[in-house]
Amino acid sequence: MTSNEANPTTGQVIVITGPSGVGKGTLLRQLCSQDENLCLSVSATTRAPRPGEIDGQHYYFVTLEKFRTMIAQGELLEWAEFAQHYYGTPRAPLEMLIHQGKDVILEIELEGARQVRTTYPDARQIFILPPSMAELERRIRDRGQDSEAAIARRLARAQTEIAAAAEFDYQLVNDDLHQSLQELESIIAQCRHP
Ligand code: ADP
Ligand code: 5GP
Repeated sequence: MTSNEANPTTGQVIVITGPSGVGKGTLLRQLCSQDENLCLSVSATTRAPRPGEIDGQHYYFVTLEKFRTMIAQGELLEWAEFAQHYYGTPRAPLEMLIHQGKDVILEIELEGARQVRTTYPDARQIFILPPSMAELERRIRDRGQDSEAAIARRLARAQTEIAAAAEFDYQLVNDDLHQSLQELESIIAQCRHP
């Protein structure tokens, strides 16, 4: 069963997309920590861990060879290349969580979000926008985790992603963090109880 509306005890899939550095992780960590029935899917990636990132918690950090095997064996619900690394959603843990009745957030980039529209057509999709490109750049730089080349790749990709924001069911500008948290909470409540 791919539709998660068919069974009322099955959890919802919710997709959140937005340019790198817009604040998706900051918002989602806070929301998920407040609600045990709202989970964040843990993606696999070939990028190196940032300081403080824990394998199996923030991402499954895998080699390119392992990532290719996961694709070949159909273990990924969706996957995409982003800023010279690969990212994908492991299928089995997601299916297990939604069958347990948990609502699961996929925090993924644009190409992955488009793929999920095929597999989970009922999944609501939310796009997070920055207040401006200058503020987005400031946040990426302040995070202090990316090289100049990686910052440039992320900003270039941000333009493409922002141009596609209208494809999503909801758009939210992450300006004031406190206000954005409240707005996102309200949007997610609508997604969970349509
Ligand atoms: P993403 O997960 O979208 O890549 P992060 O959550 O890592 O982004 O946030 C990038 C940086 O922006 C972090 O340093 C975070 O503290 C900061 N940030 C997030 N939201 C806001 C906000 N509303 N106002 C100012 N800074 C923010
Ligand atoms: P970062 O390297 O900043 O953690 O993530 C870079 C981008 O990859 C972000 O836009 C993030 O949403 C996206 N991403 C993270 N996990 C996945 C995934 O499983 N699939 C896809 N398609 N994108 C992902």
